[in-house]
Amino acid sequence: MLNMDALQNKRLAEWIRTKWKHGPCPVCQENNFGPGADIAFLIPVQGSDSGMQATPPRGPYLFVPILCGNCGYSMLINANLAGLMGPPPIPPPPEGNIYYPPGTEP
Ligand SMILES: [Zn+2]
Repeated sequence: MLNMDALQNKRLAEWIRTKWKHGPCPVCQENNFGPGADIAFLIPVQGSDSGMQATPPRGPYLFVPILCGNCGYSMLINANLAGLMGPPPIPPPPEGNIYYPPGTEP
């Protein structure tokens, strides 16, 4: 499992805000869902290109579990399709490369 970083947590919160339409838990009828703190692997065990050494696009699938806090019923959200595994943000340029017009320097 991989711990989600701050950006992945932010992206997951945005995914939940825009995509989550789920009602109460289908098992216990409570409405007590929450995401796990990690991204989990689901590894195919059969096929010509399976297991941890499989090459993309096959190989381990990455998921974030969404869990019912009452009964444990779990859903798996594909981390790639949910946008959690996107490229890292572009860092800001070094401060020395920023031009500040006279009188606007920070
Ligand atoms: Zn439940």
